[in-house]
Amino acid sequence: GSPGQELRIVLLGLDNAGKTTLLKRLASEEVSTITPTQGFNIKSVHSHGFKLNIWDIGGQRAVRPYWRKYLGSTDLLIYVIDSADQKRFEETGQELAELTEEESLMGVPLLVFANKQDLVTAAPAAEIAEGLSLHTYRDREWQIQACSALSGEGVQPSLPLRME
Ligand code: GDP
Repeated sequence: GSPGQELRIVLLGLDNAGKTTLLKRLASEEVSTITPTQGFNIKSVHSHGFKLNIWDIGGQRAVRPYWRKYLGSTDLLIYVIDSADQKRFEETGQELAELTEEESLMGVPLLVFANKQDLVTAAPAAEIAEGLSLHTYRDREWQIQACSALSGEGVQPSLPLRME
């Protein structure tokens, strides 16, 4: 956004992908948890010039109509993948594909974190990008970043974000 405006980021991924760990790395400030009545948890953090909403996707089809409203006027979509959990690559790819078809996310830049790179079984980011067919996305900027939220390595994205 323009100067003085808050950058609105949503951080999504399957459960256990490492979203909470990553969030703690990205935001130095305390994370507040909001529990809306609809029955799903959204963690929300305000930090220096950005607001970040984070939640699990997958297995949540029933509540999807409710979380959609949190997608409005998103500036950046961050999607986190457990690079070592090959059993769930198809599931996470499917979820991402559905997400990027959401009307409210049309054209929104996508940053994929290929997380858990510290594990020896982790697939390289390039392989994950190919599995997700990221190169077929024509309507948005995208980037994939290998990282370990656990060690902090690779967490600082090279997108024009200021999170320090
Ligand atoms: P969430 O469900 O997506 O919020 O995932 P969490 O942040 O709660 O992480 C799920 C599990 O994965 C926890 O046991 C984390 O310690 C672990 N984890 C998260 N990031 C990494 C990472 O980069 N490397 C490793 N080895 N474990 C991680």
